Amino acid sequence: MSTDHDPNADAAKPAGNFLHQWIAADVAAGRTGGEVVTRFPPEPNGYLHIGHAKAICLDFGLAKTFGGRCHLRMDDTNPSKESDEYADNIKADIRWLGFDWGGHFYSAADRFDTMYDIAENLIKSGHAYVCRLSQEDWKHYRGVPTEPGRESPSRNTPPEENLDLFRRMKAGEFPDGSLCLRAKIDMASPNIHFRDPVLYRIMHVEHYHAGDTWCIYPMYDFAHPIEDALEGVTHSMCTLEFEVHRPLYDWVVDRMDEMGLLVVRNGVKIRPQQREFSRLNLTYTVMSKRLLLQLVQEGRVAGWDDPRMPTLCGMRRRGYPAAAIRGFCEGLGATKFISTTDYALLEEAVREVLNKTAARRLAVIDPVKLVIDNYPEGEEESFDAVNNPEDAAAGARKVPFSNTLLVERADFMKDPPKKFYRLAVGREVRLRYACLFTCTHVVEDDSGRLLEIHGTMDPASRGGTAPDGRAVRGTIHWVSARHAVEVPVRLYDRLFTVEDPLADDVRDFTAFLNPDSARDAVVLAEPSVAELPPGSQVQFERLGYFFADPADSKPGAPVFNRTASLRDSWAKNSSK
Ligand code: ATP
Ligand code: MG
Repeated sequence: MSTDHDPNADAAKPAGNFLHQWIAADVAAGRTGGEVVTRFPPEPNGYLHIGHAKAICLDFGLAKTFGGRCHLRMDDTNPSKESDEYADNIKADIRWLGFDWGGHFYSAADRFDTMYDIAENLIKSGHAYVCRLSQEDWKHYRGVPTEPGRESPSRNTPPEENLDLFRRMKAGEFPDGSLCLRAKIDMASPNIHFRDPVLYRIMHVEHYHAGDTWCIYPMYDFAHPIEDALEGVTHSMCTLEFEVHRPLYDWVVDRMDEMGLLVVRNGVKIRPQQREFSRLNLTYTVMSKRLLLQLVQEGRVAGWDDPRMPTLCGMRRRGYPAAAIRGFCEGLGATKFISTTDYALLEEAVREVLNKTAARRLAVIDPVKLVIDNYPEGEEESFDAVNNPEDAAAGARKVPFSNTLLVERADFMKDPPKKFYRLAVGREVRLRYACLFTCTHVVEDDSGRLLEIHGTMDPASRGGTAPDGRAVRGTIHWVSARHAVEVPVRLYDRLFTVEDPLADDVRDFTAFLNPDSARDAVVLAEPSVAELPPGSQVQFERLGYFFADPADSKPGAPVFNRTASLRDSWAKNSSK
């Protein structure tokens, strides 16, 4: 996603997903008053996850496509679980993703006065009443979709009495759960959300933003259309489970219209509309804030930003670039089909970005000594190594070389099959950037464990090119033993061992946590790795992409999180 494209160019594109088409039709019909306005409405009761990123990319992305704007709004109507910590981190995560709400930051709590006035108006006009049913009875009366519900005994209370009760609810005269305000709509509707839904409930809980002003709080279904309408939102997109709430959304907007509360933009009355798309589900993880909170609270992960978490802060710490997450979300588009996306697709998007941007370095994770018997002991030289083959501007660096190198244990085989192109006695390989090397013999201990690989280099192949153009199929990476620096790395794997940790009827999802999802290790790396500042993104050639942890790295002593493995190692690749 570019940040400075011409919005009209995109808007003029035909087709797009169904949300794009929906908005385009409204723009063409002049229903937006000349400005498309969307909103992203998180509840500050947890950290954002990759599912939210999908919604953010749609909300902000479509607004931008149509040259409009997207509001950020804290939908903070449930004070028992919300906090400033969550609200602040939500903002930081959205900025990091690359989106900007300009001056349009809102909070439901800032509208509590207006919402209360609207509720009083609804009572006065006979559209709402105070219900005395207990929560249990209320559910019972509401019934099931296949049969009409039963009317609350309070349903026909006169408005004056309701108003008095509602004011006393607000004044704090009643305990939690004793009374609630309900819309008077239709107890026989097949849509259960239309059967006199609750608009306000009593909660003697302090609000993180509004303080202790209120002991009654509006329900999301009431607050949301009010906020959309008051902000002049034209297109309100949410996930599929809200589709059945849409008639209620429209009902509230109708009442606001009757009260003359709809925004008029350039002579057009703005009627916000809601549409629903399917939420993102990913394999091998869970995506509900409640479950993620459970993982944090039970100490199953190190925190919301644990690099194994599907949270945006976790992915950031893992080293996922914001551009990769945006690219992944763009690829998802928007549909109404319920589906689960393979986690591998997200990793692919991450690799695609990092392949272009990450600096290459040499590091060995499971080292064994390789001695070049025809290279003088104590001597050294250095070779030029390309920093990024995908980016000529990234230049090159010098990598020190000596007679004793460290290479991967797995790059040697005693009895290799024919197609093993790496190290074996009698075979020639390329030592990346350095030279061609032929293995002559090895040293093992009594148990047969490999201790040293010996051989000779072709002095005429310095830089790694065969002087006579002979084919050398295998290329391996190495570091000079004398120059290598030890660098801690954290190897991450999937958080869960099964594709859907919630599929089991009996066992809790935590039963499927992967015990090997985080492993500490050390790599031996070329010296320049020690100088990489926190936040650096590197590809240790053939090992994977790594990210210098911003919190745990110290100057001169980085700690790396493995962001993603490489799909292919270039050992198989004969051309390099
Ligand atoms: P969770 O179920 O994870 O607790 P939520 O829906 O309660 O999420 P909100 O803060 O209310 O979280 O969500 C803000 C917006 O993000 C909503 O518009 C919601 O529809 C959208 N959203 C939440 N989860 C997903 C998801 N997995 N895929 C796409 N959009 C999502
Ligand atoms: Mg929610």
